[in-house]
Amino acid sequence: MAKWVYMFSEGDASMRNTLGGKGANLAEMTKIIGADVVPQGFTITTDACTQYYEDGRKINDEIVEQILEAIVKMEEVTGKKFGDLENPLLVSVRSGARASMPGMMDTILNLGLNEDVVNTMAEKSGNPRWAWDCYRRFIQMYSDVVMEVGKKYFEELIDEMKEKKGVTLDVDLTAEDLKELAAQFKAEYKAKIGEDFPTDPKVQLMGAIQAVFRSWDNPRANVYRRDNDIPYSWGTAVNVQSMAFGNMGENCGTGVAFTRDPSTGEKKLMGEFLTNAQGEDVVAGVRTPMPIAQMEEKFPAAYKKFTEICDRLEDHYRDMQDMEFTVENEKLYMLQTRNGKRTAQAALKIACDLVDEGMRTEEEAVAMIDPRNLDTLLHPQFDTAALKAAVPMGKGLGASPGAACGKIVFTAEDAVAWNERGEKVVLVRLETSPEDITGMKASQGILTVRGGMTSHAAVVARGMGTCCVSGCGDIKMDEENKRFTLAGKEFHEGDAISIDGTTGNIYDGIIPTVDAQIAGEFGRIMAWADKFRRLKVRTNADTPADAKKARELGAEGIGLCRTEHMFFEEDRIAAFREMICSDTVEEREAALEKILPYQQGDFEALYEALEGNPVTIRFLDPPLHEFVPTEEADIQKLADAQGKDVADIKALIESLHEFNPMMGHRGLRLAVTYPEIAKMQTKAVIRAAINVQKAHADWKVVPEIMIPLSCDTKELAYVKKIVVATADAEIAAAGSDLQYEVGTMMEIPRACLTADEIATTADFFCFGTNDLTQMTYGFSRDDAGKFLEAYYDTKIFENDPFAKLDQTGVGKLMEMAIKLGKPVNPHLHVGICGEHGGDPTSVEFCHKIGLDYVSCSPFRVPIARLAAAQAAIADK
Ligand code: PEP
Ligand code: MG
Repeated sequence: MAKWVYMFSEGDASMRNTLGGKGANLAEMTKIIGADVVPQGFTITTDACTQYYEDGRKINDEIVEQILEAIVKMEEVTGKKFGDLENPLLVSVRSGARASMPGMMDTILNLGLNEDVVNTMAEKSGNPRWAWDCYRRFIQMYSDVVMEVGKKYFEELIDEMKEKKGVTLDVDLTAEDLKELAAQFKAEYKAKIGEDFPTDPKVQLMGAIQAVFRSWDNPRANVYRRDNDIPYSWGTAVNVQSMAFGNMGENCGTGVAFTRDPSTGEKKLMGEFLTNAQGEDVVAGVRTPMPIAQMEEKFPAAYKKFTEICDRLEDHYRDMQDMEFTVENEKLYMLQTRNGKRTAQAALKIACDLVDEGMRTEEEAVAMIDPRNLDTLLHPQFDTAALKAAVPMGKGLGASPGAACGKIVFTAEDAVAWNERGEKVVLVRLETSPEDITGMKASQGILTVRGGMTSHAAVVARGMGTCCVSGCGDIKMDEENKRFTLAGKEFHEGDAISIDGTTGNIYDGIIPTVDAQIAGEFGRIMAWADKFRRLKVRTNADTPADAKKARELGAEGIGLCRTEHMFFEEDRIAAFREMICSDTVEEREAALEKILPYQQGDFEALYEALEGNPVTIRFLDPPLHEFVPTEEADIQKLADAQGKDVADIKALIESLHEFNPMMGHRGLRLAVTYPEIAKMQTKAVIRAAINVQKAHADWKVVPEIMIPLSCDTKELAYVKKIVVATADAEIAAAGSDLQYEVGTMMEIPRACLTADEIATTADFFCFGTNDLTQMTYGFSRDDAGKFLEAYYDTKIFENDPFAKLDQTGVGKLMEMAIKLGKPVNPHLHVGICGEHGGDPTSVEFCHKIGLDYVSCSPFRVPIARLAAAQAAIADK
């Protein structure tokens, strides 16, 4: 019989896959600091979750039986009993997946209460307020999470009660008020569900476990998983833990803390604490919590013990810990520990500090950093001069660093809608909740009125790398009417605002931003990464400016220069259009003569920027329809330039129309039909290389000419012959000994299938996985967005194959091409330049199958360097 349930005393940290992160850490913590500090309980495995889905969303009898056995054991360990009037066992039920997903799934506290138990508890404890507070919270959470009644009905009832009693805070409600609220909640439950609120703790527990399993599939968890590369198949574990009460009165409380600052990485205890409170109160921003240091004054003994435990846990895990704890009648209980989420800056600092403190090796430090996180470091910050000149109109907590400016929106839905129409927005909310995740993602920054550094907004924004200022209590918010007041000014939807996620400052209007500066710890980590990686990292760059940026970020070459992108400027596009719309070879050659100097100049600038490192220039691959004129004035201009009638030009444009341009007259098909284009480009490449080589004798300039979209060796050989004849003539005429290579992009399945033939003609392969994905799936890369959402919803796909390489299908073609190509041409070098070249899991795959380099956009170069190092370290 499979084992579906483990007591905390049975597991350890190595069982993360089975017990989930939270369960494994609770078991490990029990071992390290003892069962008297960690309220005991049990974990239902992640496999049980998978089984629940396999059984058609049902918990099967075998699992139920093991849960019931675990309850009996838990009752023995705690000396309490479910439903008992003397000594009732109350539990929390929480999700806990393998990878932490803060706030994405559901939690239920105080489970085990019913009218009888609560009455006795109220009486025996002499603290009826506590008993009724627990009960009303339980009904509220259970109704919301298990029965999906919706929070808002209960919150409205609480607000009504507070108004009736003339109080503003929950803590000011009396036992009688809370008792009345509990009755109202139960009535609400019955009205919505049509049944009485369940009284049997075992029935409650089974409902709650089922709800946690179900929450694995809720929309916000699905979005979070997709963003963080967490497979759906992992499932979540469920932790059932005996309650410790932070809401029994003023000598109780609850808190969350980090052993190092999750924003900056500084080594100091950071956290928040709230007296007479429970669970979510600290992070939900219902009341503003106090800094953890103040806990020392209120609870010196518990605080001392807590700091000792922090040190032990950090030493044990050799990483910054994020902990939840409760103080019940001045005694400390640890409810959770995990490696804390952190900003990219903090991640780098912590990793370096751990190396300096002798806790981690350089390799471990490199492996600790999530490459996707680096993105935030590379994004703009406020221009220092402009920032200095600006006067903040308010201040909150700098919860997630970075600079954001945009138009104010008040709801997550508006953020998404405005973003879709190209507006930059800052989402301003009283507080955020997990439902807001898509809106938060669509925003440049997030500003909240309530909540501390560990509020939902702060934690999630840090995880996403989005700038966030939280807890600006000076804002007078009127969410309903989409307006707020700050510093005496009323702001409306669409007004401009800037926020600084590092200082917490809020500014009226837009403050200009500048590119991020990269130095310090970033440089150290990158230098370590470079030591360990085998894959080279190049960049996709079409302009000298992009190339320079990429070099600063560590690119070791250009893997793709899309030459058609060099013609977007007005005077250039005119010449380009003349080339496309030529009737005869002579006309085309005349247009090409105009283009050649532009091309040669651009290529020289690229070679200069790359200082002798490899530069791959891809020959023209324009979907022609993107370049022909559509405006009357442009058509007239073209007609004038070519001395033709407008009607002739229009007819020519009409003749260029294709039903499926992505599979039409593009790539090397253009060179087959118009060899003069390939000739001109070859001349430009070779002349530029010769000039730059002459100017820099110490560089070795070896142009790499890349022919796009080939599908057949004869087709490639035909174009290559034109290139070689032209190049050799240029080199001879210049009396140069320049060497060059001619390779091809692998973008069509047939090219991969016949790679052994193609490799006889090509000096290198470069996988164009944008097209290769398009052609392998048969999904148009321009239109797939319209239906992929449905594929995620139905779980057919977990990810966008255009963003994350499909290793099973497209990857198999790549592997096959390498296996077929290399034996035929041992000098063949192989890279990738599709979008996947900057995606960490795809980079790991490229390492595994033996590519020589990945090429990606400039800002993703550091991500690729780190991912390549991590792949090499994991490979050891
Ligand atoms: C590709 O297809 O992956 C590629 C890099 O080329 P493009 O995106 O220009 O088609
Ligand atoms: Mg392509």
